Amino acid sequence: MSNDKFIPISLPSRCLAYPIPVGTDIRIRPFKGREQELMAELNMPNLSKRLLTILENVFQGIDVRKLTVGDAEYAMIWEAINSYSNKRSINLICGQCEKSITVEIDLMLLEKIELSDEYKDVANRTLNLSSLGEIELRLLTLQDDINAFEFSQLSKDASSYLYSYASSIVNGKDVLANREMLEEADAKDLQKIVEWHQKYKHGVDLTSKYVCPLCKKEGFVHLPFRLATFFPFL
Ligand SMILES: [Zn+2]
Repeated sequence: MSNDKFIPISLPSRCLAYPIPVGTDIRIRPFKGREQELMAELNMPNLSKRLLTILENVFQGIDVRKLTVGDAEYAMIWEAINSYSNKRSINLICGQCEKSITVEIDLMLLEKIELSDEYKDVANRTLNLSSLGEIELRLLTLQDDINAFEFSQLSKDASSYLYSYASSIVNGKDVLANREMLEEADAKDLQKIVEWHQKYKHGVDLTSKYVCPLCKKEGFVHLPFRLATFFPFL
């Protein structure tokens, strides 16, 4: 007997990046013991694949490989809040008195950043670059992240930097061909691609306000996107 409670979720990409059939609800449920077990055994070599398994378990109505990286991060913070609690203790250096302090952060107060409507228009996904001509881009997905990680494991330089950006080029060529193209591109053109991705960044703003228990002043902390920041058993 299943007691799964799936709840509708509104993702930061607003499904602009992957149109889903009209009437399809994207739903998510909180973790159970089996997901906590998968999380507890996460380590670098299996990180992306384990995350994929975890998200496949908890989502309904979407192929989680197609989730944008911003949506996947949002979903993990949703899990942290809804499977455990919205309060986390964080150690930091106060920006005002420069002393080491522990503050409680409320994850519910983190701001959701939604994908801009401009993404729908192909003209806004197209860049005209001096060394590459016109190229169309798309947002990176969880599957791209997994591919980039596997590439970095196999390649000598262990860097997936260009591979990731190459994954976002829509031209019918394979990622390795596009990666070679980016190797030869002018650096300023590559920078324009990097800035395009920054412009369409969505997910969660990890900047949180805190009040220092020592000097009583207010400050801001940018939470690192590390799973240990969000999950109490890690
Ligand atoms: Zn202080």
